[in-house]
Amino acid sequence: MPAIDSKQVTIQLPSALTQAAALLKVSPSIIQRLTRPDQVHLRELSILRDDGSSLVVPAWRVQHNNWRGPYKGGIRFHPKVTLEEVATLSGLMTFKTAATNIPFGGGKGGVQVNAKELSLAEHERLARAYIRAFYDVLGPLRDIPAPDVNTNSDTMGWMMDEYSRLSGYSVPAIVTGKPVELFGSAGRHQATSLGGKVVLDAMVRKLGLTKTPLTVAIQGIGNVGGGLAHLLDRDPKYKVVAISDSQSAVYNLSGLNLQSVFDHKSATGNVENASYAQNLLNSELLELSVDVLVLAAIEDQITDANARQVQAKIILELANHPIADHADEILRQQGIIVIPDVLANAGGVVASYFEWVQNQQSWYWSESEVNQRLTMAMTGALEEIWGLAQQYQVQLRAAAYIAVLQRLVATARWRTGVS
Ligand code: NAD
Repeated sequence: MPAIDSKQVTIQLPSALTQAAALLKVSPSIIQRLTRPDQVHLRELSILRDDGSSLVVPAWRVQHNNWRGPYKGGIRFHPKVTLEEVATLSGLMTFKTAATNIPFGGGKGGVQVNAKELSLAEHERLARAYIRAFYDVLGPLRDIPAPDVNTNSDTMGWMMDEYSRLSGYSVPAIVTGKPVELFGSAGRHQATSLGGKVVLDAMVRKLGLTKTPLTVAIQGIGNVGGGLAHLLDRDPKYKVVAISDSQSAVYNLSGLNLQSVFDHKSATGNVENASYAQNLLNSELLELSVDVLVLAAIEDQITDANARQVQAKIILELANHPIADHADEILRQQGIIVIPDVLANAGGVVASYFEWVQNQQSWYWSESEVNQRLTMAMTGALEEIWGLAQQYQVQLRAAAYIAVLQRLVATARWRTGVS
């Protein structure tokens, strides 16, 4: 396959990063550098299908930046994934690892394939083919993949095995998000949700919201939103009153019976008509008068069109980029506090770092140790970003990018020659 010149691939930087760069007077050469990935690798993967035919699909690994450590980021299997999307997400990983002060850079991978049409055996062959194709550019000190859309801990298990076979010895630290039996980390499965709850708890304390319980609406109840719903349900400080999936939404002002809603979803495929709840339109959930709105589904859910109707006091962005850029300003004018994605959903990558540390040391931590360290890391990141928001008089998103740029600029002096 032809090599791709990384200078031909540019990523759109978040506007909050541009704002932070202006405040910090960051050299344009550094910002220019962040618009381009370090390397872009394209390969063609070819696997045998169960019926004896062959499947040939394009696959990418984009290595955005490694000034602060090895490239780090998930691999998605999706029929519509593009190089542009993978490149943008690789940049987001650089910013997320810097925002939480993890000694990693940013990368991302993608395979253009309809994963839902693959048998389990074909999924395994594709995972192994990915590692064979990119073996020369990956490594536990070079570039460390993880699961993303339509890939999971099994995918990582096969990838770890393939990399280890090619190396001739076991290399657990080559990927994170592995099964616990294959030296994944305890606590990793719910780390994104727990990280989100830790920063939400800290923000509630900072804002002095003493009312209990605080009402919560959650858009999206997959891995991350569903995990958070369970954590909040066990905490008397919160009451989950509304949740939605891609089809429908339900609401109960006195608090949802989550078990019955999840049972109903398992039985029928969606939450509509769940017991002890009222049906809502998906769009109505975003506009409920609640204390906390959690966005845990997909991008661009709050836009110019609906931002003025949002009534929540706090928005927790568990999804990536669920608020369109212009809508941020409208929310600010309404006094709504947004805990930005780059911080709110970073618990997963923080726990990935813990998994990598445990693999490197062959020394394994209990779930409570992992959760304790995760809590410390997320609280520390929130405290720093909150302090920067006060110091520079900006919103939390811009403050998070101030922290990101301060760290990247501090290393750029030595790592690149640009300053
Ligand atoms: P998932 O596929 O498990 O869940 C997504 C949920 O969103 C599902 O319940 C789906 O029905 C729902 N949904 C989709 N469109 C919707 C809509 N229009 N309205 C309401 N609900 C809708 O995915 P996930 O792993 O939970 O990830 C959710 C988001 O969090 C994504 O943006 C992802 O990039 C981000 N994220 C996930 C992780 C992680 O550890 N899984 C880490 C960081 C960020």
